[in-house]
Amino acid sequence: MERKGLTFEAQKVTANFIDPLGQTVVREIEIRTNPISARTCRIAFSRANEKDVGNEALPAPPPDQHDRNSCPFCRPQVTTKTPRIDPLLAPEGHLVQGASILFPNLYPYGSYSAVSLIDDGHFVEIGTASQYSYTDSFINCGNYLRRINSQEPQAIYMAITQNHLPSAGGSLLHPHLQINADKIPPNYHRHLQHRADRFYRDNGLYIFSSYLKHEKIDGRRYIGRTGRWEWLAAFAPEGFFEIWGILPGVRSLINLRHGDWHDLSQGLLKIQRYYRSLGRNGYNLGLLSVEEPDSKLDLRVVILVRSNHAPWVRSDHTGYEVMLGDMTTFSAPEQTAVDARNFFTDE
Ligand SMILES: [Zn+2]
Repeated sequence: MERKGLTFEAQKVTANFIDPLGQTVVREIEIRTNPISARTCRIAFSRANEKDVGNEALPAPPPDQHDRNSCPFCRPQVTTKTPRIDPLLAPEGHLVQGASILFPNLYPYGSYSAVSLIDDGHFVEIGTASQYSYTDSFINCGNYLRRINSQEPQAIYMAITQNHLPSAGGSLLHPHLQINADKIPPNYHRHLQHRADRFYRDNGLYIFSSYLKHEKIDGRRYIGRTGRWEWLAAFAPEGFFEIWGILPGVRSLINLRHGDWHDLSQGLLKIQRYYRSLGRNGYNLGLLSVEEPDSKLDLRVVILVRSNHAPWVRSDHTGYEVMLGDMTTFSAPEQTAVDARNFFTDE
């Protein structure tokens, strides 16, 4: 199916063998191509029924769930055990928005690398945070990015990410967002910028707005909306139960309205509750922008489940993903949309 240069391609292959009971078996695998990145992914439907210890139910809380004293992100020690922002950027040292505190990452990944706490909650089970805590934390991120833009306008490659629980890459349990900005683009910024610019040049259209338009007409992967954000199961997922939120017509993080941060948080919390219903407790989030006046990249947030944070759970990145580069998930995005819609019904 095609809309102005976007191709939604799905191919099927089969694997044939004789099972241990002597029965002839035909297993179907779907190979989908991401219309934005052109990367392929695989859906191995037969693995959906496989026993996957540790991913079958919400794990018990971690042993250090109450260990606030040794957590540098908990109050009162958060103000003394975390770094302070360069005074040229923020003379006050930390940025505060409601219960959220923002400070530099002690172990930076680039020129501007910071942490925005959700609030003072040390261990917060997925799906149980207050929406306002996430809204404040996102607003804090936006305020920080705006200051960077004033100080170093060349640092146009901006991102807000989240590693919820160590299984998703988080080094501390305490829920937080991460903010990055640099003048040198990470791979995804570079690819997306190139693809969006080329798509605009060829079609006179914005790529994510076009993607959204296609998906709303198709309907099978559309989940719902919160304010101006529209939510979809990714056509060609590169993570389990991957969901995209698209904010059509908006291409900058630094002046996003408070209402849009609120609506983003509302959608995120609904998706957290959906993931919780699947017995999953860890996820990654990513929201990228290229802060140029003529950027062609509409805002799109990606949220996907990771293997559970629990003892002896196998990683969701096997040799297939790491060495061949095709992510393999086990269920159809269309089913993800059906299930996730149950959490968007009050809209
Ligand atoms: Zn803490």
